[in-house]
Amino acid sequence: MSGDFSKMIEFMTLIGQLKRVQRTGWVRSNITRPESVADHMYRMAILAFLVDPASGLDKDRCIKLALVHDMAESMVGDIAPSDGISKEEKHKKEEAAMGYISSLVESSVGREIYCLWKEYEDQSSAEAAYVKDLDKFEMILQAYEYEQLEDKPKCLEEFFASTKGKFQTDQVKQWVESLESVRSNPKTS
Ligand code: ZN
Repeated sequence: MSGDFSKMIEFMTLIGQLKRVQRTGWVRSNITRPESVADHMYRMAILAFLVDPASGLDKDRCIKLALVHDMAESMVGDIAPSDGISKEEKHKKEEAAMGYISSLVESSVGREIYCLWKEYEDQSSAEAAYVKDLDKFEMILQAYEYEQLEDKPKCLEEFFASTKGKFQTDQVKQWVESLESVRSNPKTS
């Protein structure tokens, strides 16, 4: 096996690991068969397809940011605030993981992946801010679905409470409002 190919396989094995890292919030809430980090990023990427054309945001960039933003979790896992790891330490671990992961592919691709991750992490563009809103929206949509699937209405209120007032973009704010109204009036939806 050539060196490049074995690195590519290692890269893809790490990406595959994202299918097995379960999202910590659902595990702690005792959700049956909780989704993986890959599941979460895939639906965020699809949500990014729906970006309002009038927003002026670069849709392809939003899709790429969604696909990359949690990639470090293939190595460090899904660290939750309740894990007692400081924000700085979490950032350091994830930065090191991204440095390693992006070194496994051709250098220009590796640079692109690393810079997209950093752009999201630093929230340094309008696209990154939009994708952060999608991150939270995807989570509460998932919470709503689990409430339905487990037949326990409003049992995941903490996820809604933790994102309240934190959305920044008009489009996602409207989605949140609509979701909350469907959740409050399930019969009329
Ligand atoms: Zn995420």
